Amino acid sequence: MQIYDGKNHAGGQYERFIRDMILDLLNGQETRWGVLNWPPIPGLKLPSASRRRAANSAFINRLRAFVDGFIQTGIDSNGVETPSSRRVRASVDESPIMTVSADESPVVIFDEIHESWRRNQPRPLLNGDGTTAVGVNQPRWESQDAELYARDMATYFFQELLASPFWSCIGKCVNPNCKRYFFRKRQRKTAVKRGSYCGNCKLVGGAERTRLSRERAKLEMLKVAGQAWQDWGSRGRRTDRAAWVADRVNKVFGKTRFIRPKWVNQNREAIETLVGEEPQALLGEGAGGGTRLLPRSRRVKAGQEAG
Ligand SMILES: [Zn+2]
Repeated sequence: MQIYDGKNHAGGQYERFIRDMILDLLNGQETRWGVLNWPPIPGLKLPSASRRRAANSAFINRLRAFVDGFIQTGIDSNGVETPSSRRVRASVDESPIMTVSADESPVVIFDEIHESWRRNQPRPLLNGDGTTAVGVNQPRWESQDAELYARDMATYFFQELLASPFWSCIGKCVNPNCKRYFFRKRQRKTAVKRGSYCGNCKLVGGAERTRLSRERAKLEMLKVAGQAWQDWGSRGRRTDRAAWVADRVNKVFGKTRFIRPKWVNQNREAIETLVGEEPQALLGEGAGGGTRLLPRSRRVKAGQEAG
């Protein structure tokens, strides 16, 4: 049986067209999603301008709510994203999969698709040669409620995305100032552990990540320096303190982050602050071994013993 959907699937042409169309709609670069915001067609009874505006909002809110809810199903509780595990229907032991939106209340994604499908079913057609075909079309404007039509159109575009090979490639930038939708060039084989960034924000994201790991590394170095600073004092050494502390820090980090005594002097305030802290406050997550610091009272005692 033939299926007439009026689309040119040769060479994935339609799929690429709809991919770009959906992306532009999601990012607000394309606003013509249906008959309600096309140039007026003579003889077609359209709702008022304000109803059409409400329908436009209903369309875009729902399309984004579908896509956001769908993307969410691929992200686990630790924030690790595995696009291949995205789905629209929950398994029996799962709560229903809902849309995600700040602009409208959540709805059950599969139920919404099902209701829309019931309103806009494929139509059987009789061919001239007496055989049967199936006609599949986007929802038709039949003077129904404008917002209902708009949401059915959102469902239609969402279903087109699900049917295309690009359902697992769509992403939404996690940079709160960006939030743009984008398509990855290839399907991800591995999980995205540190959040999905669009092409523009990827570099910013990388710089931010480098900054954070540098800050973490520096804190570890300061902890070692703090311990060394204290050890030097307690043993009443006569060597240059900064040089001695730098040497101790380099014994741990020197291979990748070699420092000079100048570094100790430049960070002296931070090092002394760390020494003044109680050990509980210092030994946070990831402090590792070897950074044991004694509380002030015991340090004084240790110093007296050594002296
Ligand atoms: Zn971005």
